[in-house]
Amino acid sequence: MSKELSILEQSANSLALMLMGLDHTLDLKLKEFRSILKAEELNDDDLSQALSAAEVIYDDLELSINTNLQSFGNSFQALLHASSKERREKLIGPLLTKEAVINDLITLAEPISNELSRLLDASESPVIDSPEIDAVRERLGSRFLSLIEALTLLGDDDGALLELSKTLTPTPDWNTLDRLASKIITLLQDRVSAEKEQFEVYLAQLNLKLKRINDIVESDSKTLDEIKQINIDFNSTINQQMIDARHKIDNHSELKLLKSDLLQSLDAITSRLEAYQHSYSDKLLNLHESKTEMNGHIQSLEKENLALLKELTKERKMSLIDPLTQLPNRLGFERRLAEELTRAERYNQPISIAILDIDFFKRINDDFGHLVGDKVLKIMAKEMKEVSRGSDFLARFGGEEFILLLPQTNLEDAYIAVDKIRQRIESRPFHFQNKPVPITISGGVSEKLADEETSAWIHRADLALYESKENGRNKVSSAA
Ligand code: GH3
Ligand code: MG
Ligand code: MG
Repeated sequence: MSKELSILEQSANSLALMLMGLDHTLDLKLKEFRSILKAEELNDDDLSQALSAAEVIYDDLELSINTNLQSFGNSFQALLHASSKERREKLIGPLLTKEAVINDLITLAEPISNELSRLLDASESPVIDSPEIDAVRERLGSRFLSLIEALTLLGDDDGALLELSKTLTPTPDWNTLDRLASKIITLLQDRVSAEKEQFEVYLAQLNLKLKRINDIVESDSKTLDEIKQINIDFNSTINQQMIDARHKIDNHSELKLLKSDLLQSLDAITSRLEAYQHSYSDKLLNLHESKTEMNGHIQSLEKENLALLKELTKERKMSLIDPLTQLPNRLGFERRLAEELTRAERYNQPISIAILDIDFFKRINDDFGHLVGDKVLKIMAKEMKEVSRGSDFLARFGGEEFILLLPQTNLEDAYIAVDKIRQRIESRPFHFQNKPVPITISGGVSEKLADEETSAWIHRADLALYESKENGRNKVSSAA
C-alpha cells in the first residue's frame, strides 16, 4: 500500500502543477495522466512514467519562468539604477556632442571677430589699403567662408547661411566683414540656444518614458505579489486534498474502490482549482504584456539614441573635413594643433608650421574656369599629402592655401620637408585642354618659439610666405 500511496502523493502534486495551465505540453500530460488513472487496470509503471515525464516538463518550465522574470528585471534595472552620470551619458551623450560642435565653431569665430573689431577700433579713419592689409581682408573672408560651410553642415533650414555666403566676395570690404562677423556670432548663438531647446524637449520626453517604465515596474511587482498569494492559497488547498486522499487511502482496503474514490477527488480538485488557474494565467498574461511593453520602451529609447549618436558622429567628422579636397579643414586643423602643441610642450620638442599657397591661381580660374580650378585644388591636395610625412598634418586653410603642421621638427628640417613638396608640385606635369600648364607653390615656414602665441607663430609663417611671393614665387622661405 505504501508504494501506491507515494505514487498517489506524487500524482496529486504533479496534478496540481499541471492544473496551473501554464503550458500546453503539460496539459497534454495531464490528459494522459487522467486516462491512465481511468484505465481498467491501474498500471504502476505507466503511472510513474507519466508522472516523471510531467515533472521534467514542469522543472523546465519553472526554470524558464524564473529566467524570464530575471531578465525582465535585469533589462531595466541597468537603466533605472545606473548612476545619473551613466544614464546621462547613455541617453543624452549624443546631444552634448552636438552642442560641442557648435561650441567649437564659436571658439573659432570669436577670435576672428575680435581681430576684426580690434582692427576697426585701432584707426579712426577707415583702415588704409595696403597689400598686407588686403591679405588680411582676404584671409578673413576665407575664414568666414569656412565657418559658414561648417555651420551649414549642421543645417540651414531658413537659408540664412546661404544668404550670408552670397554676400561674401573674395576680397570683402571692412564693413561687409564687420557685418558678417556679428551676424555669424549671432547665428551661432541662436543655434546653441536652439540646440538647448531641442535638448530640453528630448529630456522631457525621456523623463516621460522613464516614468512610464517605472509605472510598469511597480504594477509588475504588484502582479508578482498577487501571484505569490495565489500560490500560497493554492498550496493550502492542495494540502487539504492530500490529507483527504490519505484519509481515503487509509480507509480503503480494495484498490478498485480506492481508484473510483480518487477519480472523484481528482474531479473535485480539478473544478476547485480551475478558478485559480484562470486568475493565475490572466495575471501571467498581464505580466507578459507589460514586460513586452516595457522592453519596447527601452528598445526604442536605445534605438533613438543609437541613431542620434550615429548622426552626430558623422556630423562631427564631417565638420572637420573640407568637402572639396577631403583634407581636414581649419576646424580639423585647430583641433590637431591643440593636441600637438600640448605634446610638444610636455616633451619639450620642436614644432614647425608651413603655409603653402598656389602661385597665380587666379589665372587658372580666369583661363580655364572655376571647375578646372577646383580640380587643380583636388589634385594638389592629393600630391602634397602624398609627399608629406605620415607624422605631418596637412589641412586646407582656406581658398588655395594649405597649412602643414610638422611636429618634432625644427626650422631646418621643416624647410627641407616643405621644399620637397614644392619640388614635387613643380615637377608634376599638369595638362589642360591638351596644353601643359606649369603650376607651382610658394611656402613660408616657422618654428614655434618658446612662450610664443600661436597666432604670432602662424603670422611669422605668413610673412615668410609673403617673402617667397616677393622673391619670385616657387620658393620656400624660413621665418626670421
Ligand atoms: P599668388 O601667387 O600671389 O598667390 O596669386 P594668386 O592668384 O594665387 O592669389 P590670389 O590670392 O590673388 O587669388 C587666389 C584665387 O584663388 C582667388 C580665388 O578665386 C581662387 N580660389 C580660392 N578658393 C578657391 C576654390 O575653392 N576654388 C577655385 N576654383 N578657386 C578658388
Ligand atoms: Mg592666396
Ligand atoms: Mg595664390
